Amino acid sequence: MPFGFSLTWLHYVKAAPDIANPFSIVRVEEPGVLDPGAVPGRLARRLIGDWHLGLLDDNPHDSPQEANPSEWACPRLRAFYRRKTNASVEHDLIVIPTQSYDETNVPGGEAVLSCLCRSCRYHFVFKISAGSCGSLRDNPQHHFLLNGIEEFSPANVENDPAVKLYPLRCHALYTCSACTQTIEVEVTAPRLVPEWIHLISDEQRITQALNVAREEDPDRYANIGPEAVHRYVTTSLQTLNAYLKDVVESAPEEKRKRISSRNKTFMVQFGTSCDHIFHYLGFEFEPVEEAEEGRVEGFWLPPKLDVQEGKTPLKSDRAFIEDVRGEVQALLEESSPDSGDTVVRLISPIARASLEKALKATLGPGQGGKTAIKEEAADFRLLGAATDADDETLKWAFHRQVHTDPGHKEAYLSALNNLGLRRDVDFQVFCFAQQDQQVQTTNATSDDPVDKAYAHFNLDRTRSEPASFFINVYKNFREQSPAQKSAHRAALLQIGKDRNDNEILSEVYMTQMEHSEACTYLSVDPTWPLESIAVSAQSTIQVNGIRFHNS
Ligand SMILES: [Zn+2]
Ligand SMILES: [Zn+2]
Repeated sequence: MPFGFSLTWLHYVKAAPDIANPFSIVRVEEPGVLDPGAVPGRLARRLIGDWHLGLLDDNPHDSPQEANPSEWACPRLRAFYRRKTNASVEHDLIVIPTQSYDETNVPGGEAVLSCLCRSCRYHFVFKISAGSCGSLRDNPQHHFLLNGIEEFSPANVENDPAVKLYPLRCHALYTCSACTQTIEVEVTAPRLVPEWIHLISDEQRITQALNVAREEDPDRYANIGPEAVHRYVTTSLQTLNAYLKDVVESAPEEKRKRISSRNKTFMVQFGTSCDHIFHYLGFEFEPVEEAEEGRVEGFWLPPKLDVQEGKTPLKSDRAFIEDVRGEVQALLEESSPDSGDTVVRLISPIARASLEKALKATLGPGQGGKTAIKEEAADFRLLGAATDADDETLKWAFHRQVHTDPGHKEAYLSALNNLGLRRDVDFQVFCFAQQDQQVQTTNATSDDPVDKAYAHFNLDRTRSEPASFFINVYKNFREQSPAQKSAHRAALLQIGKDRNDNEILSEVYMTQMEHSEACTYLSVDPTWPLESIAVSAQSTIQVNGIRFHNS
């Protein structure tokens, strides 16, 4: 094949004129409640991925994400981080089942997913309202616009009971541009501040406490071997976890299990240096009157939680203890620095799967597009689509972005075209139709093709500049709006012919081009057999150096 033409290409050209209305490929609904103005959005699956990266807000027209890391990215929030195996940059979100439900499969049903990141221990609560983009069969995913985001500076959890139960740091609201579904995301800080975790698990402090206890009461600690010492020193978080378990699981009629401040384990692992933490957790101290002089002795009474039928309400005392317990378990799950043993394994649903289900963004078997390459990341980001988006999803993403942010249509078109390079012919047909439509609306002043060609570059036919001027303008246009490459080249061809200028024509002919540029520029009838096109092309342009980009 003389020019590396392929049958795919012919099919592509042939199919293009049949598409009378490119929008018929994807049905576009008018937005329900929102008048978005000029805002790009994100399809549900993309948004879920972005949340894991801490990108609650993301403007794809801004600088690359790597240059502008989010304040809510997991690595930035991590404190007291011991996990060695999970160096991921993403939040490792799990669902807290007692606080979560998903009734989105019931008409009008909502979902609340209360999640905890096992790495940074921040909490993410997702409240998803009822909503449907049709049946979601025609619309392959909700398209969410950020309605607003509020950030709150850290507050002192110890001083304000309301803040303590729910230390809100960020609130974001999203609405689907094609239906009325809304999502609220609330990010709350860890209930246990890092200094306390450090204090509780401070092995030096515990060793010292053990030494003091042994000195004061040698008989009580007489039979403690090295193993027991090691256990004292390394299991304080486990002990705390057991206390919290009792609080959460004790039945209302049960008497509260008091912890004696003289309890051997309590005394060594916590003692008086952790008093403020136990007070914060809602434990009450009952002193014993007949204590020896100079000693504070008594009992710690664990908090008594209200009976809970059904799901635990957010911001309640019970939710608070559950949250603390989740954090302690996440800490226990991290391998400890020396042993490498995992003490606890959290068995909770992975948030990503639950979010995908609630937002109907799950990929079925065999669904999903090709594996994306690194160079495509910016294009997926612009279109607000996940990098595993299939063709139909990308088309839908494009339509939604253009609908809510028409001012950046060129950019979206360019992204669509770039992604089309590695996709099949039907998708390229779609890109072509979009591009064609754009070109037609951009320049349609005179009927003379030569006038049109000049107008394409906003130039007048009477200009007398040298060839290099026109070539530079053309190169500029290619750079500014790569989606219209073929239109730019076709216009330059007209100008080159009009001026009978070899330098311009050589720019047209000698540079590499893609399939999508070929038809316009060769002026061939796409319905001709391949051989005729080749012959005609050769005789028309008499150039040997053309290279067609074979994708
Ligand atoms: Zn995290
Ligand atoms: Zn929707």
